[in-house]
Amino acid sequence: TGTPLPSGVHQIRLDHVSYTYPGADSPALRDVSLRVRRGEVTALVGANGSGKTTLTKVLSGLLLPGDGDVWWQDADGREQVELRDADRADLFARVGLLAQDFPRWEMTAAANVAIGTGDRVRDMDRVKAAARSAGVHALIESLRHGWDSIVFKGYERGVQLSGGQWQKLGTARSLYRGAPFLLVDEPTSALDPHAEIAAFEGLWSLKEEGRAVVLVTHRLAATAHADRIYVLDQGQVIEEGTHDHLMARTDGVYRSMFTAQAAQYRTTSPAVPSQPGHTGAPDPVESG
Ligand code: ADP
Repeated sequence: TGTPLPSGVHQIRLDHVSYTYPGADSPALRDVSLRVRRGEVTALVGANGSGKTTLTKVLSGLLLPGDGDVWWQDADGREQVELRDADRADLFARVGLLAQDFPRWEMTAAANVAIGTGDRVRDMDRVKAAARSAGVHALIESLRHGWDSIVFKGYERGVQLSGGQWQKLGTARSLYRGAPFLLVDEPTSALDPHAEIAAFEGLWSLKEEGRAVVLVTHRLAATAHADRIYVLDQGQVIEEGTHDHLMARTDGVYRSMFTAQAAQYRTTSPAVPSQPGHTGAPDPVESG
């Protein structure tokens, strides 16, 4: 139970948010203030361990900040609910968190999309029926044609999908939920360069639909088209602006980051995330 979110929730605002994991020596987030809006792509960039993933978990309500506030607001910021007071089921229904470690069930690809919600899944008959629905198949087809050249080979056998296919499938699941806020953590890390460009085009089209896309990324190809970029370092936002704005900065922090990473990505092949199997009654809600 809790306070329902505003009916027209349009943006999420973080005010001076800090978060320290239980037992950790230092905070993962320090005094972070930012805003995420529908109709915009917001990119979170920074070195490994800088706090990007933790930030997406705070944005989605999976983690409550120790200090500071998270507000869910309507377009003009007048109607708002604080994360601490928010109805949790409402939050999970509204955000499409796609972390690198999103739950993967040992079911068909279609059922993995149809499982959809962040609610506890009790009704497998409902999931199976939804998996056979025209809506889910249309969604998978649209990703297949519109996003990249990867063919859903393991279409009927979800567990045999590649890392990149799982990433697309996770995105399809969030889209199926109809969540207006889509948080994606390195969504293209397992894709080849051509597929990656197509995937970004797909993400930009979600923005055009009026969704908020929050993109955690190492890729210059992604940030160049983001409406707003936040650069994180040791849990703090150290730079903020558009790609052009940040590239023009004389201190060169942002520019050198991408120069170094571009070199790194020229010499390494794309990472393929592990594929943990899930059996039994699934509970995709991450706790803690
Ligand atoms: P990024 O996504 O930028 O790599 P993270 O948000 O994952 O960064 O991590 C930020 C900091 O929090 C790091 O110092 C990391 O070691 C720490 N951290 C992340 N997850 C946990 C956890 N579950 N428990 C303790 N510390 C964590």
